[in-house]
Amino acid sequence: MLYSVENIFEGDEPLLPELVGDEKITQQALELVKNGATIEENYGHSLYACPEDFYLFDKFYFQVGDFEPEYHCPYCQSVLERVNFAKGSAGKTRLKFLKQDKFWQCPRCGNDEMIEYSFGNWD
Ligand SMILES: [Zn+2]
Repeated sequence: MLYSVENIFEGDEPLLPELVGDEKITQQALELVKNGATIEENYGHSLYACPEDFYLFDKFYFQVGDFEPEYHCPYCQSVLERVNFAKGSAGKTRLKFLKQDKFWQCPRCGNDEMIEYSFGNWD
């Protein structure tokens, strides 16, 4: 139960600062928790992408009350958005931005599909 709500958000040494890596975000979140805000259970590592230059990042997603972390792209300072795997054409995968009807593109070549082979080959 490493990633239980108690371990992440409560106690003397919550894991949140380590998972988030941003002091402002953690302070705000832990303050809300202390004040009794609801911790949503869909927290966890999530794939984020910059909507401007499409760099991808692995960040910790959570929601406390109405508060969600805002991560910024280290290259252009845009607010990163969560992306999800979506179907492309046969044998290809696309990444879709959760909150808008937009797909991730490769920052190098502009292609918006990835060949699934590279993802199925991890283990
Ligand atoms: Zn960027």
